[in-house]
Amino acid sequence: MTTTPARRVTKQRVAIADQLERSEAFLSAQDLHAALSRSGERIGLATVYRTLSAMATDGELDVRRTDDGEALYRRCDTEGHHHHMVCRTCGRTVEIGGPKLEEWLAEVSGRFGYVDIDHTVEITGTCPECAAKA
Ligand SMILES: [Zn+2]
Ligand SMILES: [Zn+2]
Ligand SMILES: [Zn+2]
Repeated sequence: MTTTPARRVTKQRVAIADQLERSEAFLSAQDLHAALSRSGERIGLATVYRTLSAMATDGELDVRRTDDGEALYRRCDTEGHHHHMVCRTCGRTVEIGGPKLEEWLAEVSGRFGYVDIDHTVEITGTCPECAAKA
């Protein structure tokens, strides 16, 4: 357990977490705001932005950036380090990871004498459902 003081969990934060829980895809603040409005939650877009960024800072959400730099958020089942395989048609995301990739990266960076290695691995493709429709 960390010693961080308990943050006040707002009603908005709970509603946003619930909405994210129901999505397999990464969502932007705007997507989420629209989904919340549809389910009758009245939360301002600015609050959605603020809450998402606070939740990401707390490590509750995973963040991806679109090519235009927009942040997309997802609540992953896997705690700790993992990667994502994203369907480029519907956005459905699978959490992937494994020692082989991590070992290979450590091996390669070690060979060149690099330390403090950080990495981002994004895999995009077409999910089975979208492939079946095509
Ligand atoms: Zn994730
Ligand atoms: Zn798909
Ligand atoms: Zn990794």
